[in-house]
Amino acid sequence: MNIILLGPPGAGKGTQSAGLVERHGMKQLSTGDMLRAAVKAQTPVGLEAKAVMDRGELVSDAIVSALIDDNLGAMPVDQGAIFDGYPRTAAQADDLDRILAKNGRTLDHVIELEVDVDALVERITGRFSCAKCGALYHDTANPTSEDGVCDVCGSTEFKRRPDDNEETVRTRMDEYRAKTAPILPGYEARGIVSRVDGMGAIDEVASAIDAILN
Ligand code: AMP
Repeated sequence: MNIILLGPPGAGKGTQSAGLVERHGMKQLSTGDMLRAAVKAQTPVGLEAKAVMDRGELVSDAIVSALIDDNLGAMPVDQGAIFDGYPRTAAQADDLDRILAKNGRTLDHVIELEVDVDALVERITGRFSCAKCGALYHDTANPTSEDGVCDVCGSTEFKRRPDDNEETVRTRMDEYRAKTAPILPGYEARGIVSRVDGMGAIDEVASAIDAILN
């Protein structure tokens, strides 16, 4: 099973990917996570991508497609892949078709998380994660059970993404509208697009996604 989770920043792609990994043993391929790891490790890709990411603009197609190519190629063929935050442009969608074919895979579903754009800024600016295990939280929608302590690993260190500020979020949404939303009609023509209301509670959205996969 190979699926794309599509939706504007803050739609819940990362949260739902983590759930799919846990429930179905799939692997999450998040180009955003890969790029953030490259920035942290100060690799040549990270050094090139950092300023672009800080502005909320898109990193070059060649860089992100190479990341996907490498990571998918390293996976066992029978493990399902969740593409989270990729593809984001028409060129990346073409690249993905080639990369999947090369690996003997086909795209089963494109799931679009539909969200109320006005709510996204609040959703994004409220999110944070455990600095140790990466568990995702939100100030109001999904706080830790005990204040300041990670539910999963007990760490008391948390972090926020530097690009989760209002100004950058607006640029990221503009990029989504201009470059990413236009790839949907191509997938629609193949009959593989499903839409899920992304404004529901995390487990409701998860159930809606599972209903599509089953
Ligand atoms: P994300 O974690 O998916 O919100 O991505 C964070 C940032 O990484 C984006 O705002 C872009 O700057 C960059 N990025 C992630 N995935 C891609 C992609 N597929 N194409 C171009 N840039 C990307």
